[in-house]
Amino acid sequence: MATSGPAEHDRYARQSRFWAIGRAGQERLGAGRVLVVGCGGLGSAAVNLLARAGVGQIAIVDRDFVELSNLQRQLLFEEADAAAGTPKAIAAARAVARINSEVEVRPFVADVTPTNVEHFVAQADVVLDGTDNFETRYLVNDACVKLGIPWVHGGAIGSTGMSMTIVPGETACFRCLFPTPPPVGTMETCDTAGVLGASIVMVAAIEWAEVMKLLVGDRENLSRGLTALDVWTNDHLQAEGKLRDPDCPCCGRRHFEYLDALVTSRTASLCGRDAIQVSPGQPLKVDLDELRRKLKASGPVTSNDYLVRCVVDGHEMTIFADGRAIIKGTTDLGVARSLYARYVGT
Ligand SMILES: [Zn+2]
Repeated sequence: MATSGPAEHDRYARQSRFWAIGRAGQERLGAGRVLVVGCGGLGSAAVNLLARAGVGQIAIVDRDFVELSNLQRQLLFEEADAAAGTPKAIAAARAVARINSEVEVRPFVADVTPTNVEHFVAQADVVLDGTDNFETRYLVNDACVKLGIPWVHGGAIGSTGMSMTIVPGETACFRCLFPTPPPVGTMETCDTAGVLGASIVMVAAIEWAEVMKLLVGDRENLSRGLTALDVWTNDHLQAEGKLRDPDCPCCGRRHFEYLDALVTSRTASLCGRDAIQVSPGQPLKVDLDELRRKLKASGPVTSNDYLVRCVVDGHEMTIFADGRAIIKGTTDLGVARSLYARYVGT
């Protein structure tokens, strides 16, 4: 990707002058491939900086579409994206193209699942966590440890945030620290506790720096352990020491339980405060034109190239081309499954 013409030299001059990067580091960045899993607040802040820094290839996987309530903190998106209901991966790719046309950006409107996570991870040098849930992080952790690819965890809620860099074979993995997911309903989420733009940007900045260190090869200065901070109370915690668990099912015993739990049937999961995602067991290729025609008989329908949205029985249902649907206005998995079966089909 990177050529060292005079224009490019100018473009990255302030960065390549930095002692730990230099011209050689800049060239490594140009050849670097980053996978960003989830492109909400963390993902879009990190992608923005990665694109500006001249990372050669950025793959973005996200299952969701832009909404007005995202704009307070998701830096790549604008009102027009929310009005059009553009998928976040697509809106992010368009923004990257405007920021830095030298970057090869690869958007995927998809849910990360046991069937596709290894495919995505295998094509990256580093993975950046932009998700908001434990399930996806365990999957990414399994895939990265199995394939020996480093990943940078990040999370933010309220005024707090945390980050951790995982280098398989060297550091603790995500499951060493969090062996089991928190029981459903016990964790605050951004929907219940809110989240500040500043906590997100702070964590995304740390993740970005860790990814840059990995790409330029400065492992010595990687963050060791867990960093936690609060942008409102100014608390800062750095947990280091013996975090690695030799009995860890993932990095210790190499049992990739999340990867092995291959999805075989349609699943439904909570997705935000008042919405449920229904996913087919395998990605489908839905004929959106056909679906649009079918749904018009049932209620008002809007659509773009990537999704169809309709209101049926008082629920807003958004169906993507891969067969996933996000159904708003219910927290009842049964109701969501039944709406899916009735209006989208089997
Ligand atoms: Zn581990």
